[in-house]
Amino acid sequence: MKEFFIAGNWKMNNTFSNSKELFIAINDNISNINKNDLTKVKIVICPNFISIYHITIEANGTPIYVGAQNCYSELKGAFTGEVSANMLKSVGCKYCIVGHSERRTIFNESNNFINKKVQILLENDIIPILCIGETLEQRKSSNTFNILKEQLDNCLKDIITDDLTKIVIAYEPVWAIGTGISATISEIEEAHNWLRQYLIANYSEDVANNIYILYGGSLTENNADEILSIKNVNGGLIGGASLDADKFLSIIHTAINKSKE
Ligand code: PEP
Repeated sequence: MKEFFIAGNWKMNNTFSNSKELFIAINDNISNINKNDLTKVKIVICPNFISIYHITIEANGTPIYVGAQNCYSELKGAFTGEVSANMLKSVGCKYCIVGHSERRTIFNESNNFINKKVQILLENDIIPILCIGETLEQRKSSNTFNILKEQLDNCLKDIITDDLTKIVIAYEPVWAIGTGISATISEIEEAHNWLRQYLIANYSEDVANNIYILYGGSLTENNADEILSIKNVNGGLIGGASLDADKFLSIIHTAINKSKE
């Protein structure tokens, strides 16, 4: 039996009322799923900061966990516009995406800065969903695995083994995010096998096998079945398709079916 982790990244979409409606549409369907069917599928939704408090309250007691899309590397102070890990914790948020390629490229976030966020999240009992992935240029110049190694070495620096199993890793080739063109099955398979081997080599087989490695990049209701069938793929981080309740639910139902195979 395989376990899955399905996370929706709503990005900077949805007003407060749109977020409420989308959550209700997803939760109405999920609340009708047999509880046993959900024991092997973890569902996480990452709304914008405006909606996160309301959604954590609504999600309380449901099988849906709530995550943030970002946080700052310090707990408090003169950091205008930022949100800290303990603030997220105070509203019941359980996960936080860090290192998303949009933050790396648009906001110039470095591996070192992302590492600080990973550390402060773990100290505040929030599970980081650490995104890594190469650009098209890096792939074309055969640097994919050098980049993934550099990102992991630096983003996971000083994280003790006990904490490592709490982290979720999302492999997101930058060129596949929001483009409608996902990586091919063999590209995903190759990257995820490499990632599992990296974790085995740097930590242990036991640790490596207890870490969810998600795929992200144009994962939709149409390719979920194929992608979730890949051996070292433990779920997906979904952008565009998570904004449509029917599409996101279809991916969740695919994961439920796969978890029973
Ligand atoms: C993402 O933003 O993490 C993502 C995978 O987006 P999309 O599914 O739209 O490619």
